[in-house]
Amino acid sequence: MKVPMDLLTSVLFPDNPDVIIEDVTIEDHVLIFSLRSTRLCAECPVCGCSSTKVHGSYGRKPADLPCLTSSVRLHLHVRRFLCQNNQCERKTFAEPFAGLVVAYARRTLRQAHVLRELAFSLGGKPGAHMAATLVCQVSRDTLLRLLRRSPLPPAPVPQVLGIDDWAWRRGHTYGTILIDLQRHQPVDLLPDREAETLANWLREHPGVQIASRDRGGNYAEGLRKGAPGAIQVADRFHLLKNLGDAVQGLLTRHLLAFRRKPAAKVSQEGNQKQKAGPPIKQPLKVTPELAAIRVVREEERLARYEQVITLREQGWSHQAIADRLGMGSSTVQSWLAAGHFPKRKSRQQSSKLDHFLPYLQQRRAQGCFNMVQLHQEIRGKRISGVI
Ligand SMILES: [Zn+2]
Repeated sequence: MKVPMDLLTSVLFPDNPDVIIEDVTIEDHVLIFSLRSTRLCAECPVCGCSSTKVHGSYGRKPADLPCLTSSVRLHLHVRRFLCQNNQCERKTFAEPFAGLVVAYARRTLRQAHVLRELAFSLGGKPGAHMAATLVCQVSRDTLLRLLRRSPLPPAPVPQVLGIDDWAWRRGHTYGTILIDLQRHQPVDLLPDREAETLANWLREHPGVQIASRDRGGNYAEGLRKGAPGAIQVADRFHLLKNLGDAVQGLLTRHLLAFRRKPAAKVSQEGNQKQKAGPPIKQPLKVTPELAAIRVVREEERLARYEQVITLREQGWSHQAIADRLGMGSSTVQSWLAAGHFPKRKSRQQSSKLDHFLPYLQQRRAQGCFNMVQLHQEIRGKRISGVI
């Protein structure tokens, strides 16, 4: 039984009652539907006037969703109409195929929708691979482009807002991420960590009642300016990190005092001697206390290394050792691959101030300890090129 074309049209294009299938052909395993509109008139997209005067026509070939094992392409017969409004700036316009394909698009709306869903679910390369399996050829770049062009879903202004930084390039440039802590979803990304940027966002999105932030002062200032009524709280991660840092420092100092009593005495004497004036940072000089701390930490590291070796000799896997000792598995692997205890390399940290140290020491010897004055002096010398 032969299927009538109007029935086929209503089944394959249910959202487009104004189109009709004129012909169905197959070329190189591609199923081609030749379509045209049955409307007698079309509306000018600029002035909205309806026109029945056809100026000419041309063809478009957007790709559509595949059918069984064949890919599908539409051959659209597009008429160009004359705008009959003399005041309109547009002389001619192409008839639209609303709900089927937008102007200049190379694929139908429904194919773009399916590809976008693939990109969201699988990403670029796996999505393109899956699309090829479904007889729908598309490149990974096209999938990513579709994904980036997707409009953002409307999101309510969060009442409980999480604020933290994220790295454009780690160690160099950072932005700010805003998270709705009740819906557990990111809300927005800001290009930097400046207080004013955050304050502007908060002014444009009023309604935040509680803000969880890190220890940085910029976010606190941004919240004070942009949402003065919001309650600021430190987030759990940074509270625990603060606690961990404090406990580790305390234990290290106690361990040091327990093992290195003479060193501790030297340290106290050193501290008393420095009361003569504010200390100047000496980056290349290691104090006895710092040296003793480093020795203690290195001994702890050696003890851990010996534990790693012992567990490995007992047949433990890398991951099991890492889990047992609370270490990263990559560290365990590198230690075992080294074949010996990898000593920590000493780091010499430089500072922007190093260049001015001789001058600062000279001024200090002259009795000047005023930081603001010293800062102005070295700044003036730097601008004038003396230093
Ligand atoms: Zn017009």
